[in-house]
Amino acid sequence: MESESQPTPTELATGLVLIRRRRWYLWVAILIYLPALKLTMMLSSSTKVALSVVAIWLLISFSLAFYAALVRCPRCGNYFHMHGPTLLFLRKCLHCQLHLCADRQT
Ligand SMILES: [Zn+2]
Repeated sequence: MESESQPTPTELATGLVLIRRRRWYLWVAILIYLPALKLTMMLSSSTKVALSVVAIWLLISFSLAFYAALVRCPRCGNYFHMHGPTLLFLRKCLHCQLHLCADRQT
């Protein structure tokens, strides 16, 4: 007796695109940190302003990490990046080992 049906290639691709997009948002937030801080230091010499930018960046980054962590694997239905309390942003599902680019392979 099978409790879960296998996803169609379209469902698999749609789910993987969603995972890649959320990971991409997180990477952009991480890469923006240093340029944003440098720009802030050039425009203002105030430490309070710089700390505000860091605090805002931390808030956005943690929110995006949480957003990316809650995406589910299109094949097994579990969280793609979480296994119990462990959060790892690997390129494979932590449950069924589905690769992030499985829809691009022939
Ligand atoms: Zn999976």
